[in-house]
Amino acid sequence: MMCPFCQTGETKVIDSRVSQPYEIRRRRECLSCERRFTTREKIEESPLRVVKKDGSRVPFDREKIRYGLEKACYKRPISEEQIDRIVAQVEADLYENFEREVPSVYIGEAVFNALKKLDQVAFVRFASVYREFKDVNDFVEELGPMLKQSAQE
Ligand SMILES: [Zn+2]
Repeated sequence: MMCPFCQTGETKVIDSRVSQPYEIRRRRECLSCERRFTTREKIEESPLRVVKKDGSRVPFDREKIRYGLEKACYKRPISEEQIDRIVAQVEADLYENFEREVPSVYIGEAVFNALKKLDQVAFVRFASVYREFKDVNDFVEELGPMLKQSAQE
């Protein structure tokens, strides 16, 4: 990789170790300016599994979040970029707080909170989208009571 300081040199790896499951820290040194820095590389394969209320586990799938958000934000003044940001934000939150398994209800709440701040109409629509498409976005199926509450507001 290119040196982030001088942006000309190639770098060599002087040390590698697994710092967390699915994350590798590498100590690097620039062959040109000789500065040292550390990079963290995340292994792309998602290690997270979603634990549903009935105890079954499914692999975490960010596309499910995006799909639900796109439906909710249809014809709303919300850009693809804003949707991307919510997906990234929720994903980062999950990786920060969970190592292997995350309760499905937590993901649903994280999406709800992000969307509520962004757009009230999309938020309410998101609730109904999930009622309709439970099979596709089953990770929020447990949010029934919360959805009822938001519909009454
Ligand atoms: Zn350099």
